[in-house]
Amino acid sequence: MLTRAVILAGGKGTRLAARLNGLPKPLVEVAGVPLLERQLLHCKAAGIRSVLVLVNHLADRIAEFCRAKNNFGLDLSLVDDGEPRGTAGAVLAALPALAADDDLLIVYGDILFNADLERFYAAHARCGADASLFLHPNDHPQDSDLVLTNEENFIIRFLPYPHPPGAEYPNLVNAALYLVRRAALEPWRALGEGSPRALDFVGELFPAMLEAGQKLYGYTSPEYVKDVGTPERLDAAEADVASGRFAGGTLRVARQAVFLDRDGTLNEDRGYISRPDLLTLLPGVSRAVRRLNRAGLPAVLVTNQPVVARGECTEEELRVVHTRLEHLLGLEGAYLDRIYYCPHHPDKGFAGERPELKIACECRKPGIGMLLRAAEEMRIDLNRSWLVGDRTVDVQCARNAGARAILVGAGAAGENRAYDVSPDFRAENLQGAVDIILSAQGAV
Ligand SMILES: [Zn+2]
Repeated sequence: MLTRAVILAGGKGTRLAARLNGLPKPLVEVAGVPLLERQLLHCKAAGIRSVLVLVNHLADRIAEFCRAKNNFGLDLSLVDDGEPRGTAGAVLAALPALAADDDLLIVYGDILFNADLERFYAAHARCGADASLFLHPNDHPQDSDLVLTNEENFIIRFLPYPHPPGAEYPNLVNAALYLVRRAALEPWRALGEGSPRALDFVGELFPAMLEAGQKLYGYTSPEYVKDVGTPERLDAAEADVASGRFAGGTLRVARQAVFLDRDGTLNEDRGYISRPDLLTLLPGVSRAVRRLNRAGLPAVLVTNQPVVARGECTEEELRVVHTRLEHLLGLEGAYLDRIYYCPHHPDKGFAGERPELKIACECRKPGIGMLLRAAEEMRIDLNRSWLVGDRTVDVQCARNAGARAILVGAGAAGENRAYDVSPDFRAENLQGAVDIILSAQGAV
């Protein structure tokens, strides 16, 4: 069980100075409630009893605030280590005070978050990693530090910004929320003590842990975690609190999602796409996906890719094609919350095929295996969700899952009539489909 959190509350908040009126950054009000108070109460609601707050800049003001609130009923200690040591340096220096704990939740002092911490902890405990990093896609991956994971979601590389010209990466960004095994930090204490400069998790300690063979897990989640370290971000976060997007941003409550078909819905249908240069987004698609992102509706790709079973495209090549898709969307501020594909096909007997994938699976649409997996992993209520596609197989899939179907007129437009079903709605393209979805939310 997770019982201890460490909050990194030593930042100066230079970029937020105009909003602070002399307050330390962790006490900035978000919709009338100090950020640190929101973080502490969220931890407490998840069963955390002890919190170590690492302070530095204006430490006395933070101490005074906590005292005035009776420490929120928590076993709360403030540690001022006297000098800015960087995020990892500060935690390493505080390790002796954390001797009784197995796992630590580490929270940056400038994030507003509403995440199911027990779910995060369960995933961390299950995978046996030394550290688990909360990851999500964002709307500006090209100028963010990115994280590269393998098929099992373990981190294989950190890709610091700036990225080399022309480089394309999956859209996964570190959200500044970690679960770390205390024992996994122990070997690094000397590094913290000996470092002449600030030591950060992202730039230094995590890459060093990877290098040393420690296991870092990437916990990808659509939950609400945003940094509020600039006036613009603070304004956006306050708007999210007002709109309910923040309150609804946790996997503690089931949510609706928008499932998206790929070929003919997001990109031009060219038979099959085995190379990234064959992928071209349809007009208006980035804007449509961005509108879903801003409305807080998870956008989840579900695509049949029998080319893999036919041996025409490997999983690795498909991954590169999907990286291109994420890259093109990211250039225009849009992202997919998750990508699922079915590599199978039931009919055997073709040259070059991969027999192990030639099976009658549960995931090939109109089967609902991909939707069920998303429902489990992202806590999606299928009955309140949508599936947008350009073929009757998508409509049939939505029927089978109990979701609402929108047939879009680009691409194949359901003309093959492979399934005798009618959609709930028809739209000319993805933009039109998003109009329908957002009107149904009362958001337009
Ligand atoms: Zn399948």
